Amino acid sequence: MFGAGDVRIETVADARVIEPTDALVAVTRACICGSDLWPYKTMEHSETGRVMGHEAIGGVEAVGADVRTMKVGDVVVMPFAYSDGTCVFCHEGLHTSCVHGGFFGTEEVAGAQAEAVRVPLADGTLFVLPGGRDDALMPSLLTLSDVMGTGHHAAVAAKVGPGKTVAVVGDGAVGLCGVIAARRLGAEQIIILGRHADRVALAREFGATDVVSERGDEAVERVRELTGSFGVHSVLECVGLEQSMLTAVSIARPGGAVGRVGVPQNEMMPASQPAFYNNVTVSGGPAPVRAYIEELLPDVLEGRIEPGRVFDRVIGLDEVPDGYRAMNEREAIKVMVKL
Ligand SMILES: [Zn+2]
Repeated sequence: MFGAGDVRIETVADARVIEPTDALVAVTRACICGSDLWPYKTMEHSETGRVMGHEAIGGVEAVGADVRTMKVGDVVVMPFAYSDGTCVFCHEGLHTSCVHGGFFGTEEVAGAQAEAVRVPLADGTLFVLPGGRDDALMPSLLTLSDVMGTGHHAAVAAKVGPGKTVAVVGDGAVGLCGVIAARRLGAEQIIILGRHADRVALAREFGATDVVSERGDEAVERVRELTGSFGVHSVLECVGLEQSMLTAVSIARPGGAVGRVGVPQNEMMPASQPAFYNNVTVSGGPAPVRAYIEELLPDVLEGRIEPGRVFDRVIGLDEVPDGYRAMNEREAIKVMVKL
């Protein structure tokens, strides 16, 4: 990406192992993320550009001398953040705060919308998939690199549990995965706030019990009507805008919790006063998806959850610029890049 709206396919120097803890992964599947749309809308022009992409599955092509847990030929999931797996925060399950960690698709570490990617701290970062994989499961396995883990994180931060009432703000891929996560954790009522017919239809298939397509005060009113006037126990905020955060706090019942995973586009946190007066917990942040893969993987392998259904368009690497356009124009929920 060279600037807002300017995505090109370029030939760059081959990714390779540099540090002894690196692995080189040949990408077989990558994605375009909703969060990639923020720079797509706002990035200042750059002469050198940025190799985008932070979600991938691929095959290990080479490993550095210190890599112990994988070998050439293994198929791996690449979470959107790299992490050592050994520091105090990794041990606490918060890999996105790893003291040696960072993010793919940044100025420092090239991303995975590419033929190959250099993965720092490979032992701590990559998750080696069990053998005998079914190709049909690949889309769902790919979501473990970000959106399914992120939806799950929103649900955990919002304290979703058996019998709880839940609202999901946002009908993008993360919101839809949030519905899956809420149902998986035993929520009784799941209200999706969204306006796109195809997306809310999928949300219903994933377990949403109610749809609220209004916005702002009307949406708050509608959620109250659906919940005996109190609001919900748990809100998953999957957008990151001031209005969505305000709505999220406003539909939480007193003592409830908001789990936010939409990248906030404001420096100040909206809805401070209603959160205070209603004792609403506001939590969340970049999801430590590496920590969640082990927990979510059996449900994917055994077909109990199908988060891969959020992909409604599959493209080749050459079509990535059009993939951005399609996601930005809400023509596609989520685009998979298949190499
Ligand atoms: Zn760490």
